[in-house]
Amino acid sequence: MITIAIDGPSAAGKGVVSEKISKLLNIHHLDTGAIYRAIGLYCYENNVDAYDENQVKKILDKIEIKIEFINGEQYTYLNGECINGKIRSSIVSDYASRSSALLCVREKVKDLQQDFAKHHSVVMEGRDITTEILPNAKYKFYLTASSEVRALRRLKDLEAKGEKITFDQVLKDINERDYRDSHREFGRLQLAKDAVYINTDEFSVDEVVSIIYSKINER
Ligand code: C5P
Repeated sequence: MITIAIDGPSAAGKGVVSEKISKLLNIHHLDTGAIYRAIGLYCYENNVDAYDENQVKKILDKIEIKIEFINGEQYTYLNGECINGKIRSSIVSDYASRSSALLCVREKVKDLQQDFAKHHSVVMEGRDITTEILPNAKYKFYLTASSEVRALRRLKDLEAKGEKITFDQVLKDINERDYRDSHREFGRLQLAKDAVYINTDEFSVDEVVSIIYSKINER
């Protein structure tokens, strides 16, 4: 079994890079952000304050998340409904970022992630995969880029989905989420001592894929 763990801030390119690596190695790619987004979506749709641990604790048992792969693509189900088309909006990003700071949320998601890695070879990407979820992964990477470069990438994604938003707003959202993700008490985004650090500012997706692929083949 191969386990590859990738962490980094939002819009650093983890998703697209992990997807390509997983195809090259013919293994699964688990986007763990989709799981946190499912919980964020539930809070948003049910008027749950994603900052309020008591409110979130009460609804966690009502949330059942399932992941399925069809032709290599991840489908995330929230209580039986496929939510792939609903979880990429900026409002769900915000709810996911807030609720993911809560220990009760992280505990629920931890089991799902570790159980997946026990049964599948995987490229797993998120915020605390290299540090908390799969600290013994053989291959660990930390992908990042400047917040301006990431905001531009995210803006293009959101515009392609028809969302009307300005660069300044996207940049502000990214900076706020970065701050929350790296300053929270649990599952904080941080660079693992043994992870390979890659700043993707100057690289294309394929260049990053080839750096990671050659590191994997070196060992
Ligand atoms: O990676 P993505 O931007 O889709 O993640 C959405 C949110 O979920 C992030 O802002 C982060 O707060 C949270 N997340 C997390 N731990 C992970 C993956 C995502 O806390 N492993």
